[in-house]
Amino acid sequence: MDYRHLLVDALHGVTPDDPGISMMEIERIYGIPTERIVFLSRNENPYGPSPEVVRAVSSADLRRYPSQDEFLSAAAEYLGVSEELIIAGAGLDGIIDSVSRLFLERGRSAFIPVPTYTYYELAARLCGATPVLSRDLRALPENTSLTFICSPNNPTGELIDDELLREVLENTNSMVFLDEAYAEFAGVSHAEWVERYENLIVGRTLSKAFGLAGLRIGYAVAPEWVVEQYTRAAPVFGISAPAIVGGVAALRDTDHMRKVVEKIVAERERVARYLRASPSHANFLYVETVKESGALVEDLLKEGISVKDCSGIPGSDNHHIRVTMGTPEQNDAFLEAYRRVERGHSSR
Ligand code: PMP
Repeated sequence: MDYRHLLVDALHGVTPDDPGISMMEIERIYGIPTERIVFLSRNENPYGPSPEVVRAVSSADLRRYPSQDEFLSAAAEYLGVSEELIIAGAGLDGIIDSVSRLFLERGRSAFIPVPTYTYYELAARLCGATPVLSRDLRALPENTSLTFICSPNNPTGELIDDELLREVLENTNSMVFLDEAYAEFAGVSHAEWVERYENLIVGRTLSKAFGLAGLRIGYAVAPEWVVEQYTRAAPVFGISAPAIVGGVAALRDTDHMRKVVEKIVAERERVARYLRASPSHANFLYVETVKESGALVEDLLKEGISVKDCSGIPGSDNHHIRVTMGTPEQNDAFLEAYRRVERGHSSR
């Protein structure tokens, strides 16, 4: 018996998001032991979380369903906004899912300025909505239910201009999801704007500046009316107890986070000088390559260095890679291999 006809229509045309090659696969395919791999393809933080997080996580009460309250208030305090405006999820991806479910369905559309984070398109499609991709945020159509803006933008590292964001918020009838996953590396945030705009949701995560990609916890600032509806669309126990107590410990040790962010930002500025990279406000660089990006990434993998080929990202092209900032040693290893691999190629 074949039950595939029972799958929802929204799955048509959906291909799974590509997480890129893993360390384990690199070891298997290229014969490089994982401890020697320089893994700069997922915008992770090479320094990891505060030691306080590890302590908190190991003391989590695993017997009971967790309460998010303490995390919501820690997030509110960290951002300096009211606790009533915070929602949380299993990573920012979890929040993108639930928010999409609130505003998107068949017959509706989501506006996505590209190149950007590819998960928005997938989330929209899974709700049955039509993703409208455009290079120009100003081309936002009249009847859009949800607009995704990423600032600093993944993969380009660009920040949205305040004036343009204001224009979008005031002159359209769309909800705006502003993804600030990398805000700490930019030192600017629009989280407080939520108090002024009833159509703005600002998403944040602990995966990047706080070094907790493996814990899976994210949060967002949303107008009160959205917070009320969010609890209807998101699983009530969607975040694990270790993620909640670990998240609280991370948000309270901002000294650790700031030190780490400072090191990563310094590296971003140093490494950028050796590359054809656009100015970045995040923990990665968007680098223009001479060699075709797919072949270049493959050559780097053979040397045990993993960076992101941007050719699969709508709105990018096959001459860009995204390089996560690692430790100075990792970045030097990348620069050295990159020079060698690019030199092996004469011109476009
Ligand atoms: N938004 C952007 C722009 C990202 O780059 C990422 C992580 N790659 C996410 C959201 C998802 O982050 P999380 O780990 O919190 O799910």
